Amino acid sequence: MTYRSGRHFLQIPGPTNVPERVLRAMAAPTIDHRGAEFAELARQVLAGAGKLCGAAGPVALYPSSGTGAWEAALVNTLSPGDRVLAFDTGHFASQWARMASKLGLDVDLVAGDWRRGVQPEQVYQKLAADPGHQVKAVTIVHNETSTGSASQIPPIRAAIDRAGHPALLLVDAISSLGSVDYRHDEWGVDVTIWSSQKGMMLPPGLGLNAVSEKALAASGDARLPRSYWDWPPVLAAADTGAFPYTPPTNLLFGLREALTMLDEEGLPAVFARHERHAEATRRAVRGWGLDLVCQHPDDYSRTLTAVLVPDGHDADRVRQVILDRFDMSLGTGLGRLAGRAFRIGHLGDLNDLSLAGALCGVEMGLALAGVPIAPDGVRAALGYLAETA
Ligand SMILES: *Cc1c(COP(=O)(O)O)cnc(C)c1O
Repeated sequence: MTYRSGRHFLQIPGPTNVPERVLRAMAAPTIDHRGAEFAELARQVLAGAGKLCGAAGPVALYPSSGTGAWEAALVNTLSPGDRVLAFDTGHFASQWARMASKLGLDVDLVAGDWRRGVQPEQVYQKLAADPGHQVKAVTIVHNETSTGSASQIPPIRAAIDRAGHPALLLVDAISSLGSVDYRHDEWGVDVTIWSSQKGMMLPPGLGLNAVSEKALAASGDARLPRSYWDWPPVLAAADTGAFPYTPPTNLLFGLREALTMLDEEGLPAVFARHERHAEATRRAVRGWGLDLVCQHPDDYSRTLTAVLVPDGHDADRVRQVILDRFDMSLGTGLGRLAGRAFRIGHLGDLNDLSLAGALCGVEMGLALAGVPIAPDGVRAALGYLAETA
């Protein structure tokens, strides 16, 4: 490996860039996780994480990936053979459903074309057709990171209520929390699942669950085996500051700093920034004459954009050219989008010029890879960024 000057552009939709301030906060001696200093840190970051997702109740934090936090949500609330209603909006939704099946749950995975979010009307129809209340949980991916399509939680909640159905609402907010407005309590979510390496601007390694009172009550009767993921000892840390096993101390130093930074910028400004960068990116894609995977403007993701390459071209070759020539990583096409799409992450620690640089790299790379594009993408994005600056 030879030295490559300048900064690597990590424009995948997670893990995202870790800001210098967070890196410096983590570069500290590890402290005694049973001491008073750690207890204070734990209480502080758990309260901050709850506030970020709009949950007044306790938050469970695990040393884990997002996948671990998925598992925690399922095993704490459900029993073997329970029916789960899921929607195939993309790779992550289908992976979560597959996990539920592996755990011994009876999953009804509603087919989808991977080009839009969950339709509230579909949720209503499915639950209205279940008068015996066999469905115990509805799983929704808020922001489908494989397709760049979002699902709207309040109308989905309203659909469940309109059907008069008691199923729990479990929401994966892994690639939206910290970047997009999200309200666990106000939206009536029972378990919110997220992790550290996307909008939270941290390295991978923290998985979180925010838990409603209803979900906590359900966990008392839930019979899926659980040990590492068992909520009560982990939730207790919000009060005691003590974990049932060794917590990832230095990641919590980073989490404290990241929460401070989100607070300093102000969440409304953070959300507006993500919305604006997403719009600039979509204008670039249109300016190249390429198609978005997400087909419905109501469902556009604010944290990433998935772009289809024309038939006969390989999206992974485009990514490879961009990595080799411009030192930028883009997200690969996942599942059925493999080779057909690439993804531009625009979440986390980003400003106008980092986005502009990323879009320049995409435009040059598409041309170098021989993909026929119109030359107006970057120009359209820059025009929008300047006019809304
Ligand atoms: C990244 C991601 C996951 C998986 O998280 P891991 O940390 O890789 O386990 C799940 N769901 C969504 C929506 C994601 O973006």
